[in-house]
Amino acid sequence: MITEVFTANQLKKEAPVFGQLSFNDHEQVVFCQDKDTGLKAIIGVHNTILGPALGGTRMYDYNTEWDALNDVLRLSRGMTYKSAITGLDLGGGKAVIIGDPKKIKTPELMKRFGKFVHTLGGKYYTAEDVGMETSDMDTVREVTPYVTGISESKGGAGNPSPVTAYGVYMGMKASAKFSYGSDELKGKRILVQGIGHVGEELVRLTAEEGAEVIISDINQERLEEVSSKYGAHIYKGDDIYSETADIYAPCALGATINDDTINKLKVKVIAGAANNQLANESTHGVLLQEKGIVYAPDFLINAGGIINVFAEIAGYDRNEIKTKTENIYNTTLDILNKAKATNITTNAAALSIAEERILARKKENLK
Ligand code: NAD
Repeated sequence: MITEVFTANQLKKEAPVFGQLSFNDHEQVVFCQDKDTGLKAIIGVHNTILGPALGGTRMYDYNTEWDALNDVLRLSRGMTYKSAITGLDLGGGKAVIIGDPKKIKTPELMKRFGKFVHTLGGKYYTAEDVGMETSDMDTVREVTPYVTGISESKGGAGNPSPVTAYGVYMGMKASAKFSYGSDELKGKRILVQGIGHVGEELVRLTAEEGAEVIISDINQERLEEVSSKYGAHIYKGDDIYSETADIYAPCALGATINDDTINKLKVKVIAGAANNQLANESTHGVLLQEKGIVYAPDFLINAGGIINVFAEIAGYDRNEIKTKTENIYNTTLDILNKAKATNITTNAAALSIAEERILARKKENLK
């Protein structure tokens, strides 16, 4: 899945770490190892100008440690922009734990990881991401307060995924409004790739509105379950990227918009939950723009989850979470319009607004 590996240029001899693209202005990267529990983790703290770096922990059986490093750096950078564009006083960070959660995740390993998070003294707050459950965050909470996404019964805001899905739904509706003149999804053919925590809820919301939802996943059991629950159609072909549809919603892993897939796409809108959907932000953003495909920037429309976990720090109630998440609709529409008016990619338009906010705060902090 991870396609943006290090190029020779990025691995210049004189700057093998700080010089590579994903490192892009990271403040701190922490490598954590504990042989007793089998923990191998990397915490990326990209930027803390707006506030503490908050971002989930992903546990994944990476092919190589380079893939893990590349993933955490790309993800933590994305968190900086996600929080900035959403108007949250948070910086960007992320963590990855290397290994198959089904095989090596134990409470001991999670606690050991939590202790590493604790050593950062609140500069980084963790939460759940792929391969993690709310109960894992509860375990981490036993050893550090610098964790969000814990159970409601333990004072947390609970599972962020339904809120993420709601935000994606808002971003999708705004993109439909921009592309089709109406935000109604009824009758729209929507491809949802990945029907996990977020994808399933997105299927529910769109199917309930009357969309024709096509689902794909590597987990056959889930496909059958979600299909029967919401009347979604299971994708039967062998290349989802060639399927004709109105909207493609990537909700599995990142980098599915890449050199191989981009020419095949027969959709008008891309709006999904996965982080880092563009394998290469610059080139693939431009290619989508040239093809006339409207891309709702992932870090903008999947911000519901961060809003939900930030609520634990900021003390938001359910209504505030909902209102802030609904605002993703307006922000998405503004950004799509800004990109069109200034003839830049939607990703670049969103990034520039986020960067402006960070820069303004940096100047304020210097006063
Ligand atoms: P999840 O692990 O619950 O679900 C991912 C689903 O994708 C699983 O059902 C898995 O079987 C499926 N999948 C994996 N590889 C696939 C492939 N090649 N083709 C089709 N399906 C595949 O994860 P989630 O929490 O639903 O998150 C989905 C995506 O959204 C991730 O990229 C995550 O980083 C991003 N995201 C999630 C949240 C959140 O609140 N959970 C917030 C922001 C972003």
